[in-house]
Amino acid sequence: MNILVKIRCLKCNDIIESKHVHDLQRCRCGACFIDGGDKYTRVGGDLKYINFVHEDGREIPCLKA
Ligand SMILES: [Zn+2]
Repeated sequence: MNILVKIRCLKCNDIIESKHVHDLQRCRCGACFIDGGDKYTRVGGDLKYINFVHEDGREIPCLKA
């Protein structure tokens, strides 16, 4: 099963995804990162600038307003 999730940084508009467990990807401006690949999803940085981007294109804010 594919549980890969991408995140979009609302500061620099970068969309990043982690492809392996230790594949930590940081966005262009450095405000957020994603890690964990298809094993787990760990995101960090400034959570209010993170949107989760799902396979079907839906975007969900990391922090609910
Ligand atoms: Zn950014």
